Amino acid sequence: MTASPMQRRPSVPVRVGQLSVGGDEPIRVQSMTNTDTSDIASTVTQCVALAQAGSELVRLTVNNRSAAAAVPRIRERLDAEGIGVPLIGDFHFNGHRLLSDFPACAEALAKYRINPGNVGRGEKRDSQFATMIEIACRYDRPVRIGVNWGSLDQELAARMMDANARSAVPEDAETVMREAMVESAVGSALRAEELGLPRDHIILSCKMSGVQELIAVYRMLAARSDHALHLGLTEAGMGSKGIVASTAALSVLLQEGIGDTIRVSLTPAPGEPRTREVVVAQEILQTMGLRSFAPMVTACPGCGRTTSTVFQELAEDIQGYLREQMPVWRETHPGVETMQVAVMGCIVNGPGESKQANIGISLPGTGEQPSAPVYIDGQKVTTLKGAGIAERFKEMVDDYVADRYPAEVSGLRPEA
Ligand code: SF4
Repeated sequence: MTASPMQRRPSVPVRVGQLSVGGDEPIRVQSMTNTDTSDIASTVTQCVALAQAGSELVRLTVNNRSAAAAVPRIRERLDAEGIGVPLIGDFHFNGHRLLSDFPACAEALAKYRINPGNVGRGEKRDSQFATMIEIACRYDRPVRIGVNWGSLDQELAARMMDANARSAVPEDAETVMREAMVESAVGSALRAEELGLPRDHIILSCKMSGVQELIAVYRMLAARSDHALHLGLTEAGMGSKGIVASTAALSVLLQEGIGDTIRVSLTPAPGEPRTREVVVAQEILQTMGLRSFAPMVTACPGCGRTTSTVFQELAEDIQGYLREQMPVWRETHPGVETMQVAVMGCIVNGPGESKQANIGISLPGTGEQPSAPVYIDGQKVTTLKGAGIAERFKEMVDDYVADRYPAEVSGLRPEA
């Protein structure tokens, strides 16, 4: 029997452009550009790359008048390239003014992200927030009320701290701050509804940079609201630290059925593609058994029995090859994203893992006969020998895909 995550927390589905989020919809992968939005060519290029990597929603910074003016042109260019990915505008401080002054921007965006901690101070806060919600109502656009630990509404936090200090049984400061995060999101959603924004036009998020804090806050948020939730560990960091921290935080919440969209906020190393965050988000969902995006390669870590690099090279080669094929295979071979491929280093675990995969190869370890048995659907079908094992294995993978995941004719998809 296969273990599975807890049942998804019920949430109100939200329409974002051509896509639905929340409810029974699959957990969506989101990303964000890091180009200057007013640089239309660079932003379009990056949006295309993110969408083609599998980002189902792409957020853009809309921080000034030239960025707001660029948004409709970015939308047009993407449409012309056949990229329909919904664009989300990220607004802070001046969003009320930009959305008012640039109606084409308001219309081109499929969703607005509003940070309640950054909409203004004092009396201006309410009126500027109301302006953004009124524009969302006018254009029938959903909003994400996105609270962030680094820009929490300080007036709200101070009020809650004062009330806590007067309480007979005061909570510790950390608990009060978490409650302030949740209150900022839930209270802002209530205010948006009072202003006329339908409940099914609101998504909430409460991003923190600490793993345990994020888990605690989202558990509270999930208990207090039935809005669709966007998950993300903010400022996750670079490289393996960013990936591990995001995976640790998101996996716990997803396992508990919490989360309707996710983003992995990685800081790319210089020269690293922005699409990495999309791949990591997909891999989190796929390794947890929540969605399938691309065939997965099971590979052993290698050890003293693999003293040549053949095994690592083949594992890397096959993983890259499978992902490269996906833009085409997704259309021509539906269901292929669930395929499991094993590339194993020696006879110890090689045959066993290879038999569990759809197609697997067990390479010869040090001192073993220079031959590599290949297994298909649990049965040994051949043994590859000599030079060109990698190429011949790839050909076998191609044949397997063509045979096992034929073009959809009857509407029935083969099981993996
Ligand atoms: S399968 Fe073989 S090579 Fe791979 S880790 Fe296990 S013993 Fe080492």
